[in-house]
Amino acid sequence: MNDCIFCKIAANQIPSTRVYEDEHTLAFSDLHPQAPVHILVIPKLHYAGIHEVPPQHADIYSQLLSVVATIVKEKNLIDKGYRLVVNFGEFAGQAVDHIHVHILGGRAMQWPPG
Ligand code: 5GP
Ligand code: ZN
Repeated sequence: MNDCIFCKIAANQIPSTRVYEDEHTLAFSDLHPQAPVHILVIPKLHYAGIHEVPPQHADIYSQLLSVVATIVKEKNLIDKGYRLVVNFGEFAGQAVDHIHVHILGGRAMQWPPG
C-alpha cells in the first residue's frame, strides 16, 4: 500500500465525509474548505496528474466529470455557478499527488485565480 492520503481515504483507512461513491470514483468534502461548498472528486486508481492516465484507463476522464455533473446539480450550484480546479505540480501548488477535481461553489470567485 502506498502512503497516498487519498488512496487511504478511498480504502477507508482515513475517515472522510463522503458525498458520492461508486466502483471507480469517490467524492468527499475538503478538510479545509475554501468556499461554502468544497468537494474533491477522485478516481480510485492512483495517478498524480491527468496526463499520467494511460489509454486503458481513459474512462477515468468521463467518470470524473460525470460525477462532477451529478454533484453540482445535487448541491444546487447551477443557478449561481461553480468552479472546477485541478492542480498539478509545484507551480499549481498541488499538495496531494493523486488526481482530484475541486468543486468550489456557494460564493463569488475571483479571476484571474492567482
Ligand atoms: P491540492 O492543493 O493538492 O490541489 O489540494 C489538496 C486538497 O486536499 C486541499 O484542499 C486540502 O485541504 C485537501 N486535503 C488534504 N488532506 C486531506 C484529508 O486528509 N482529508 C480531506 N477531506 N481533504 C484533505
Ligand atoms: Zn493515491
